[in-house]
Amino acid sequence: MMIIDAHTHNPQAQDALIACDPMEFNPHEGRLYSVGIHPWKTADVMADRLQALAAVARHEQVVAIGETGLDALRGAPFNVQWDIFNRHIELAEALGKTLIVHMVRTSQQVLKAWRESGRAVAWVIHGMRGKPQVARPLLDAGFYLSFGPRFNPDTAAITPLEQMLIETDDSGAVIDDVASAVAKARSTSVGNILDIATANATRLFLGTE
Ligand SMILES: [Zn+2]
Repeated sequence: MMIIDAHTHNPQAQDALIACDPMEFNPHEGRLYSVGIHPWKTADVMADRLQALAAVARHEQVVAIGETGLDALRGAPFNVQWDIFNRHIELAEALGKTLIVHMVRTSQQVLKAWRESGRAVAWVIHGMRGKPQVARPLLDAGFYLSFGPRFNPDTAAITPLEQMLIETDDSGAVIDDVASAVAKARSTSVGNILDIATANATRLFLGTE
C-alpha cells in the first residue's frame, strides 16, 4: 500500500489518507484513515464523541489522528478548541500515530501546543497556505507541510523535500494537478514531486517506502 494524497475528505479516495469524524468512521478494506474532531465542529463536542474518538483511533486502518487543530475564524471559542486539540495530541502520542493539524491564523498557538507536548509523534500542517515567515519556525520544529490546491508558492519553494506532502482536502481536485502546481513553484517535474510526496507519506503513515 502507498499514500499519495496525504489528506482528503473523499471516502472513496484511493492511495490516500481519508480524514473522518469518529462518529462517521466506517472503514473499507484497503483504505487508510485519520480520525479526529474537526475544529469547525468543536462547538458541540460531548464526552461521547471524545470516547468514540479514543475507541476508533486504535483501529489498524487508522494511521493518524486528525484533522484537529485551531481555527481563529470558525468553530468553538479558543479555550474549547485548545482543550479538544490537546486531547487529540495526547491520544496521538499514546498511540504513536501522526497528528494532522488544521491551522488558521494560529501558528503561534500551534507551536505553543507542540512545545508543551511530548513531541513523541510527527505533526503535519495540512492545507498549508501561510507565507515563508509562518512556515519557517514550523519547519525548524520538524513539522511536515502538506500543500493542497491553494498555497503560497514561495512557501512551497523553501520547504525541504523531506518535509513536503501534497493533498486534495475537500476540494475535489485531482492530486496530479496539485503536484503540478507544487512542481511549478519549485521548478521541478511533476513526477519528481509525486515520487517524493508518495515516499514521504508512505514512510510517515505506514512506516514503509
Ligand atoms: Zn480537511
